[in-house]
Amino acid sequence: MRITAEWNASGGTPAIRDGGRLAVCRRCGAPNVATLGAMRPRRCRARTIALVLAALLAGRVASRPTHAAADEPPVPEPPAGAVASIVPAEALKHVTYLTGDKLEGRGSGFEGANLAARYLVEQLKAFGVEPGGPVLPAGGAPSTTTGPARAYEQPFDVRCVPFPGQGAGDEAKGQVAPTMNVCGIVRGTDEKLRDEYVLLSAHYDHVGKMKKKVFRGADDNASGTSALLEVAQAFALKDAPRPRRSIFLIWVSAEERGLLGSKHFSENPTVPLAQIVCDLNIDMVGRNKPREMDVYGNGTSPELDEAHLAAAVKSGFKFTARTGSIFLRSDQVNFYEKNIPCLFWTSGLHKDYHTPGDVAAKIDEGKVARVAHHAYLTAWTIANRTERPSFRKLDKNASSGPLGAVLDMVSPEDVPQAKLEPGQGLCLVRSVMDGTPAGEAKLQPGDHILAVGDAPLPEDDPVGAVEKAMAAAKGGKESLRVLRAGKFLRVVVKL
Ligand SMILES: [Zn+2]
Repeated sequence: MRITAEWNASGGTPAIRDGGRLAVCRRCGAPNVATLGAMRPRRCRARTIALVLAALLAGRVASRPTHAAADEPPVPEPPAGAVASIVPAEALKHVTYLTGDKLEGRGSGFEGANLAARYLVEQLKAFGVEPGGPVLPAGGAPSTTTGPARAYEQPFDVRCVPFPGQGAGDEAKGQVAPTMNVCGIVRGTDEKLRDEYVLLSAHYDHVGKMKKKVFRGADDNASGTSALLEVAQAFALKDAPRPRRSIFLIWVSAEERGLLGSKHFSENPTVPLAQIVCDLNIDMVGRNKPREMDVYGNGTSPELDEAHLAAAVKSGFKFTARTGSIFLRSDQVNFYEKNIPCLFWTSGLHKDYHTPGDVAAKIDEGKVARVAHHAYLTAWTIANRTERPSFRKLDKNASSGPLGAVLDMVSPEDVPQAKLEPGQGLCLVRSVMDGTPAGEAKLQPGDHILAVGDAPLPEDDPVGAVEKAMAAAKGGKESLRVLRAGKFLRVVVKL
């Protein structure tokens, strides 16, 4: 065996050869410059002791979170009973109900979504989760031990913009209809910390019916809704120890209509925003490889990242940390925009995304339960640490993708002045990040993007088409056909 090259390369102590074989100390592997003489045990012993001490010290440091304050007590082990209560069969039961015929794809503003919300409230009551919605007017339900009486439902109105292809004659077309977020609280135990909330979110709505077909949204997002129900029952489990901080659970509506439910909550929070220490968002977690997941939002808080990584050791997931505009396309973004640290867990897009093919039979309920386990462990750590997670803004590219704008799909029927051909789609620019290609090109909120270059956008996923084209044109230029205040423009974007 020849290893000469290495030593010299490392710039270490020049080695003395003993007949070509490198003389090293058998105990500590140090090159023995005194090969010609007896070993000098003293130096070797001191070196060994130093190594052992360093290892001990490292061990102690490793068990304490790197960002932990010196006096941070170790996080207690999560209660075994709570973890064991998260089971695939239950997760599948929830998915099966939420994708049933009666719920007609849970389009927000339609009865199907209201049935889903009612189901969530029933489950929370059965688990013993307290209501977390708006405080009820005095004289209503009796107040609870930990504060004024609340409702589970946070109602808000949504304009029923039928999704592309939903077809004429839809009775609710364009009308404003009530929908609701569903909120629950599991109160923490610590005198001070229980007024702070580890928030977990998932949207329960989907796109409803299009072209008379029901889009059941099993993965998007009955899977995340189900995982969050499993987390709720685990935290609320009778006789299981509770964490120090409180847990706030929210199932939002109207995500598919532009993140409207989480927007409504972030602007009308039922608990003070300043007391929400993070958002852990779960969206589409029941497909693709069983032990692989994507995570967005890394870097919004080192403490959150750490709790997530520690949980991954137990949940057994291989996570890929992702950046880009998908970060802007689920509910955590409305918390992020309020400077609340967040993580977004998803198993990623697949061929059945936003199609009638997204059905319960293709859901991996074992994976949904594993995601619930992961979310429970991450939340448990954050809810028990004295120090709340610090917040960091992400750099532009990490959070807004190649274009740097939040895009929404809207119905062509809603923008007749766009004069689109059948099958063509458009997307609405909801917000533009400064210093991004969209910002430099002076794209404006309210603009409608109709085409990239000469290619009109497809009706089924206009947003995806724009983002793919922007990513493909990285380092170059691309022109967008835009409708702004009734006028058609060409906007050139440098990427
Ligand atoms: Zn979704």
